[in-house]
Amino acid sequence: MTPIRAADGCPPGRSITWSPSITLVPTRFCFNACGYCSFRRPPDPAGPFADPLSDAAAQALLEARPEAAEVLLLSGEVAPQSPQRRAWFQRLLALCRLAWAQGRLPHTNAGPLSLAEMAALGRLNASMGLMLEGLGPAYDTLHRHAPSKRLAVRLGQLEQAGRLGIPFTTGLLLGVGESHADRRAALELLAELQRRWGHLQEVILQPFRPDGAAAVLLTGAEQADLLVTIAQARAILPPEVHLQLPPNLWPLQALPDALAAGIDDLGGIDSSDVINRAYPQPTPACLTATLERAGFSLVPRLCVHPAWLPWLPAALQRQAHCAEARLLASRSSGSRSPWP
Ligand code: SF4
Repeated sequence: MTPIRAADGCPPGRSITWSPSITLVPTRFCFNACGYCSFRRPPDPAGPFADPLSDAAAQALLEARPEAAEVLLLSGEVAPQSPQRRAWFQRLLALCRLAWAQGRLPHTNAGPLSLAEMAALGRLNASMGLMLEGLGPAYDTLHRHAPSKRLAVRLGQLEQAGRLGIPFTTGLLLGVGESHADRRAALELLAELQRRWGHLQEVILQPFRPDGAAAVLLTGAEQADLLVTIAQARAILPPEVHLQLPPNLWPLQALPDALAAGIDDLGGIDSSDVINRAYPQPTPACLTATLERAGFSLVPRLCVHPAWLPWLPAALQRQAHCAEARLLASRSSGSRSPWP
């Protein structure tokens, strides 16, 4: 596919976007063992679906969250050569179809995929994601038992998504012991990929926070350090790439500082976050009030940003219009509204 440039460059501005989202977890079983992960369960001999998310359970979760136009499929990984890989992949497709049947847009983040797997998911997903995480010795240590986190594998996946023309989310995990030079090198790799393919619609700058029973908030010094990186990312990445910060991992009252430094997107927000229970998401009303006091406005969006909508196949564009109608309906109904 010929790379297409995003049309509406989006430098940091006064509108900050977010996507009302619900997370479905097909399985937590994962053949990787990243040094920081509390999401993972070790692979079960009975297969990745020893404790399955059934269609009925997924349906019930979706119906309880009518405002969520985005369905984030976040899955533990099955090794490429595993005999269980096919069943795992078919389950991902089935959950995407379930999201479609309800007029929603899937966004899958399930680790590295073969070309055929990514192409098949790309026909059902308005956007997909895979964190680069970073490069350098700190990441090598964290990922020594995670074969799919090797830098070459991650870069190959980002390149493959570009070739397939899939609007894509990637990002960096920050604060694991990496240097500023490591961060700069990672951002320059992403900028180069974007100049080649134009498919990186957003880059997440995710502060690493330890899991546990209680949140460990970023210190003032850690915030100051990350603000430097946010500004550096804005300077290095092409202007159409949105910079995303998970708002549950940053002190709410200091959020305007991150926005002033270059963040313009708060990502998919699931009001009942199943991943980071110690770090609950702020409510849209809370975010709106904080942002308005600082001169910003909070604007809902689909998982695919508007500039990349024309990239999608016709059927996915029609699905995006259905999902948009869901956003508008929940805004006007007022019930469980994602809008303030
Ligand atoms: S790949 Fe993801 S789920 Fe698997 S161990 Fe690493 S962080 Fe956890």
